[in-house]
Amino acid sequence: MLELRDIHTYYGNIHALKGVTLRVEKGEIVCLIGANGAGKTTTLMSISGVTPPRQGTVAFLDEDVTRFTTEKIVARGITQVPEGRMIFPRLTVRENLLMGAYLRKDKDGIKAGEERAYELFPVLRERRTQMGGTLSGGEQQMLAIGRALMAQPALLLLDEPSLGLAPMVVENIFEIIQQINAEGVTVMLVEQNAQMALQISHRGYVLETGAVILEGPSADLLADPKVRLAYLGLD
Ligand code: ATP
Repeated sequence: MLELRDIHTYYGNIHALKGVTLRVEKGEIVCLIGANGAGKTTTLMSISGVTPPRQGTVAFLDEDVTRFTTEKIVARGITQVPEGRMIFPRLTVRENLLMGAYLRKDKDGIKAGEERAYELFPVLRERRTQMGGTLSGGEQQMLAIGRALMAQPALLLLDEPSLGLAPMVVENIFEIIQQINAEGVTVMLVEQNAQMALQISHRGYVLETGAVILEGPSADLLADPKVRLAYLGLD
């Protein structure tokens, strides 16, 4: 479904991604783990067109999307949930959700999408007239995911959904990510919480200083001595 071939991404002179190659098959949850600054966020930004790679290619559904604008990428079926949620604090929960559907014209479909978001996250229905900024961190993460789903993505990119959340909230969100995936949305998950990410994903990639150093089925990575020591804090 998605294939990155030897991508190199820069911030000015900073060479952040040094030849990343990876693929995501339809129906998978694929996780990307690695230390701070390894290039996880930059990989997602390179897919979604925010920081297009200077070299290498991004192919989605057999189409070269490397030079596409973000808007065109969203229209093709890739939506990103950014790190830090980035919800609109002065819009209501409902307005935030509708922002996710800004490229859609089908009123009935949008209504059904909103209903679906409330089914997945009942707390959002209760809070639908509240300002986004008044929600807790976990609720904001739910809103960010609900808003992304309003664009009907085939591939959902999630950047650190567990960041700053209590363990129980993280479990709830990860269960819902699995549910969304079971309903047909392919997921690429960036996480500092390698343990949880490897538990819910099918395959994983380990990034170090802008390059993939390990990849494989998540169960194998969970058992890998290097991963256990460096990323899970176990020996
Ligand atoms: P984190 O968990 O901290 O988000 P990450 O693995 O997602 O880490 P990136 O944010 O992709 O890492 O950063 C990769 C490299 O690019 C780092 O060396 C970082 O300092 C650099 N970098 C990231 N964003 C920028 C930017 N806007 N300007 C300059 N350098 C940046």
